[in-house]
Amino acid sequence: MTLKRNLEALHRELDACRACPRVVGPVVHGPPVRSPIYLVGQAPGPHEGDIGRPFAWTAGKTLFKWFQSALGVDEATFRKKVYMAAVLRCFPGKAKSGGDRRPAPDEIGRCRSFLAREVALLKPQLILPVGTMAIEQVLGRAVPLAEIIGVQQRLAYHGVEADVICLPHPSGASPWHKMEPGKTLLLKSLALIAAHPAAQRAFDLPPGRRRLPGLSPTTSA
Ligand code: SF4
Repeated sequence: MTLKRNLEALHRELDACRACPRVVGPVVHGPPVRSPIYLVGQAPGPHEGDIGRPFAWTAGKTLFKWFQSALGVDEATFRKKVYMAAVLRCFPGKAKSGGDRRPAPDEIGRCRSFLAREVALLKPQLILPVGTMAIEQVLGRAVPLAEIIGVQQRLAYHGVEADVICLPHPSGASPWHKMEPGKTLLLKSLALIAAHPAAQRAFDLPPGRRRLPGLSPTTSA
């Protein structure tokens, strides 16, 4: 079976998954993109299920502005060229406090099998965890953002060795990327992504691209 067909078969399994009784459906995932870049978000919010795309609401607007500035590619092109996964593929629902509920370890564990299978199929060269929960899952441990943003490291994720460049969550509710050292470290991560051979190949960038014209890391939707 081709890679695309394998990914489509996996997506059919994802779409049919009802393993977590507390989450709010439907399952959200991007298209079966054959890509050297694997982006890992946290979990869909309350709007993504209706729209049917990850990062389809306000945090996504900020995230795609970052990539537009760093890579010179618009949202549609990014979605066509990068495989977009997430720690959880279903909206966890609201917490009693009013915010989105933090996924439970058993839910993360159940959804992890889909990430493992995607990584085994895609064998990505570059992994982009977005937000503390995704970073913790990819690195296998909790690390303060100030130590991990702006850094490129090589590690094995689900048995596949890849470069990992972490990004903060672009949510407007999080002030980290709008203040120092977050602003500067975010720019470093974006420059590392733009200079990475996987991004240069995926987006047909000139080698060694490091300039970030017009980047506004403080922008939030
Ligand atoms: S969160 Fe993942 S494992 Fe749980 S029901 Fe949704 S797709 Fe299935």
